[in-house]
Amino acid sequence: MKVVEYIELWVFLLDSWKPWPTISLIWWIHGNEKCWIELLEYIKWNLKLLTGKVYGIMGNIDAIENNVRQCDVNLNRIFKDRALLTTKEKESIEFRHMQRIRKYLLLSDVCLDIHSSPIFGSPVFAICEEEMFNVAKSLGVEYICSGFAEIEPGGTDYFMYMQSKVWICLECWFHGDANAFRRARYGLEALLAHYNMLEREIFYHYQYRNIWERKKLI
Ligand SMILES: [Zn+2]
Repeated sequence: MKVVEYIELWVFLLDSWKPWPTISLIWWIHGNEKCWIELLEYIKWNLKLLTGKVYGIMGNIDAIENNVRQCDVNLNRIFKDRALLTTKEKESIEFRHMQRIRKYLLLSDVCLDIHSSPIFGSPVFAICEEEMFNVAKSLGVEYICSGFAEIEPGGTDYFMYMQSKVWICLECWFHGDANAFRRARYGLEALLAHYNMLEREIFYHYQYRNIWERKKLI
């Protein structure tokens, strides 16, 4: 049985052949955030879905190849209507990737977007809105932040928000830290478990500390 099917270069599909939900799992929106290369292998060999499907989408391919965060512009700020983008953004390498990723977000009910930080000691946190706070608490994060879709439009979160869909951005700590992979894995499993997509119970190893609502701070 084929576990993972590549439906185009840099995008794979994990399918239970049962309807609902469809989840877009994105990584490398920023090309230097390689904390969870191992996650792909883990998904290929260990995940079996009970229901729904997962699109695994690798983000800024050109930036990955050059080991930089971005080539021309920040890919996570251009998920907007074309009319709202600058000429530089529309002509950027990232614009093509945005269009490629957008197709899958339009097909999805939920988005999990995984990031890591270049800064040693960055907190482990999730960005989501209130309806996903309970899910985010089970992802093993220290903090939960909200309000970014309105304050910083153009991310994958903003794109889902504009369609009245749900998402979680998971910041898994330092790029090079081995625990970053484990956090990404727990995060993915927790999200899938929330939607009854996994056949086993999930245990969590971290406690969240606080919900930090940025919109209330400014
Ligand atoms: Zn990032």
